[in-house]
Amino acid sequence: MKTAGVKAVKTVKPPPLLSKEVFGEDWVAFNRLTSIELTAKEASVAVHPSLVDPTEKRVLAVHWHPEWIPIELVAERVKRAFPAALDSLVIPTQHNQILTYGEWSGVEADAYAPDYGLKIQLLIHLRTQTLPKATTLVGMMERTFRYRALQLLDILDNVVNPDATVKNEIKKLGFSSDSINLAQLLARRLQNLIEKADLGHSNRAETLKNRLLPDFMAARGQEYPPETLDRAMALCRLVKSQVKRRLTPSRFHTAKDLVEEAKGLGAGVVIPHPPQFWPILLSDLNVDGWEVWNPSTPNHTIFLLEALARQKKNKRPILAFMGDDTHMSSKIRPDQKSEEKNNLDREIGFQSPWRDPKVLTVLKKTGQSRERTMDEYRTRLT
Ligand SMILES: [Zn+2]
Repeated sequence: MKTAGVKAVKTVKPPPLLSKEVFGEDWVAFNRLTSIELTAKEASVAVHPSLVDPTEKRVLAVHWHPEWIPIELVAERVKRAFPAALDSLVIPTQHNQILTYGEWSGVEADAYAPDYGLKIQLLIHLRTQTLPKATTLVGMMERTFRYRALQLLDILDNVVNPDATVKNEIKKLGFSSDSINLAQLLARRLQNLIEKADLGHSNRAETLKNRLLPDFMAARGQEYPPETLDRAMALCRLVKSQVKRRLTPSRFHTAKDLVEEAKGLGAGVVIPHPPQFWPILLSDLNVDGWEVWNPSTPNHTIFLLEALARQKKNKRPILAFMGDDTHMSSKIRPDQKSEEKNNLDREIGFQSPWRDPKVLTVLKKTGQSRERTMDEYRTRLT
């Protein structure tokens, strides 16, 4: 298995250290929540997979998120998970950030599909040697990444200075002035820390996520009455939903533009979890595959395989993929309140339905298989 010498391509700028004197306990909490340094114990967790398949010879894993876990450790983990592997196609797909794993690079891109007005995702995979030519694609992803990261800043802004709509909602729901003040106080302090640390441009940018606000509030709100803190957190959730509703999908690149750019580079494109945006299957996007299974959309595998088989017999048939969609940070620091409750069960390279007898029958009938997907997809990436 070729995993030697893998490394991320993110540009890295160390964040300035915030003075503990000025920021006190806020600084301690902020540094802990945005830390991407692994303790020895965390590093050990990173390289020890939760599942091991001692006999599998081939590893296919083209939808997973290293997040801030160093890719070298992830490579070690995959090696331990599949000690007998002779052949592997393992490509990371960070959200809107192109990352490299040996000879392969990949990304899970947010895009907009104007025909049916939905934000969608696309998995894009390419050979690392192609990256120097991929400046347009890299730029498209950087813009998308920044736009997504701005959401947290927008939420903080709207907690501190609610606009008329948000003010109205807050009033309607009868938040006490104590809870409003507490939400504003903690949001303001977090704003300050993010700004001073220049988090968005540091190597901790990956931690600039909506989740940072409730985590920071939980860490720093302990000295206030629990009911007040609870209400303050509810208020922030309300603001978040308002801000999310206002997210303008048209600010994303269109799916068509992204696919064209990727295809021009000889990259491959796969539609992840299509049940999250069904209309995409009726579009004529030039894609190489569909995920017929993903832990977030586990119930349509046979339906999707049969739908694939009904596709026109075109020159480049659409291949069946399964995405384990593993998020590495949840292995290291599990989020108890995560919406993705099954995150912990996920493991890079493990997609159990490939071996489900019912699925196997349909795979056979439709001429699809994990091996075929691996072999054919690899030859398409030029
Ligand atoms: Zn994903």
